[in-house]
Amino acid sequence: MKVLVLNSGSSSIKFQLFSDDDWTVLASGSVTRIGEAQARIERSWVDTHGELQTAKDSLAVSGHRDGLERIIAGLQECGSLADLSELRAVGHRVVHGGEAFHAPTVVDDDVVEVVRRMIPLAPLHNPANLDGILVARELFPDVPQVAVFDTAFHQTMPRTSYRYAIPEYLYREHRVRRYGFHGTSHHYVAKRAAAMLRKPLEHCNLITLHLGNGASATAVRDGTSVDTSMGMTPLEGLIMGTRCGDIDPAIHFYLSKNLGFDNQTLDDLLNRQSGLVGICGVNDMREIHRLAEQGDENAELAIGMTCHRLKKYIGGYYAELGRVDAVVFTGGIGENDAEVRARSCGGLTGLGIALDETRNSADDSGERVVSRPESPVKVLVIPTNEELEIARQAVEAVA
Ligand code: ADP
Repeated sequence: MKVLVLNSGSSSIKFQLFSDDDWTVLASGSVTRIGEAQARIERSWVDTHGELQTAKDSLAVSGHRDGLERIIAGLQECGSLADLSELRAVGHRVVHGGEAFHAPTVVDDDVVEVVRRMIPLAPLHNPANLDGILVARELFPDVPQVAVFDTAFHQTMPRTSYRYAIPEYLYREHRVRRYGFHGTSHHYVAKRAAAMLRKPLEHCNLITLHLGNGASATAVRDGTSVDTSMGMTPLEGLIMGTRCGDIDPAIHFYLSKNLGFDNQTLDDLLNRQSGLVGICGVNDMREIHRLAEQGDENAELAIGMTCHRLKKYIGGYYAELGRVDAVVFTGGIGENDAEVRARSCGGLTGLGIALDETRNSADDSGERVVSRPESPVKVLVIPTNEELEIARQAVEAVA
C-alpha cells in the first residue's frame, strides 16, 4: 500500500508519496504561494518504466483544500495513486504537540481539539498544520490521518532539562517550559546512527546536531532525548540562519527601554533579522564561506560564532551524557559543510572526538563516518529524511 506525507505551511503544502513495501518515493512535490494570484505546483514521479518525470504549473490556488485537491489530481493523473483506497495512512507534520503527545497519534476529533489548543505555543505553524489535517480528513474520510509532532521525541526530557528557572505557576498554569523541535529529524538520525554503530538504539548515547536554516542539538541517552537546545519556541539554542539562539533575556528590556522596541519589533529582530543574517547580512552558509574566503570579516565571524556555539553544546551534552558513542551531523550545513564540522569538533581529542581530515572533506553525500578509525567517539554524517520518518511512524501508529 501507499503512505502520503503532508507538510502544510501557511502558504504551502509539501508532499511525498511512499510505497510501504520498500519505502521508495513514488512521487513528491509542492504547492507554494497558496492564496497569491499564481501559485506554483511542482511534482516529480516515477513512471511505469521506472523513469523520473517532472512537471511544473502556475495557476491560482485559493486555499489548502484547493491545493490538496490539485495534489491528488496530479497523483492520479501520473498514475502514482490510481485510487484513494491504496492509501494506508496520511502522515501530517505538526510542529507543536505540547505535553499532550509523546508519539505519533491517529487523528480524531479530540486530537484536533488538542492541536488547536496548542496554537498559542506555535502561532506560525500549528494553524497551517491543523488546516492540512482538517482538509485531508474531509477529502479522505476513510483513510487514517496520523499527526507526527516535532516535539514528541523530546517528551522524554527530565524536568531538570525542560523547566526554566522562573516561578512554577508559569509552567503549571501557562505551559512555559522547554519543548524542543526537529524531533522527527533527531529521532531519524539517531536510529540510523544506531544501525551504523551496529548497536541497539536503546544502548546508544549520541549528540545529534541538526544544522539547517533552523538548527538544534540534542543529547540522546539510551536512545531517548534527555536534552535539546531549542526551548519553548524554536528561537533558543544554536545560532541559526535568521534566529539569534541563546541570548541574555535582559537585552529585551534594554532594547525596549532605550530604543522603544515593542513586542513585534523584538520578534522580528530576534527571529528574522538575527543569527547569521544579523552577523554578516547573509543567511546562506555557502555564500558566507565565499565571502569569508574573500576576506569579509563579518562572514568569518559568523562562521566562528556558529562553531563556537556548537562546540559549547557538544561539550555540555558530553558532560551531561558522561559517555558518548557518536556525534551526528545532519541538515543542509551538517551534511555538507566540512569546515563547520571540523571547527566545531576541533580540539576535542581530549574528549575522544577525533575527526579525520580526509574523510571529513571527501566529496560524498551519503551516510558516512568522518572520524579517525581510532577515535573512541565516532563522528557521523547522516542525511536526514523527515518525510520517510513521518511515513514510517504513521504506518506504525495505524498498525
Ligand atoms: P531547512 O532548515 O530550510 O530545511 P536545510 O537543511 O536545507 O534548511 O539547510 C540550509 C542551509 O544549508 C543553508 O544555510 C545552506 O547554505 C546550507 N548548505 C547547503 N548546502 C551546503 C554546502 N554544500 N555547504 C555549506 N552549506 C550548505
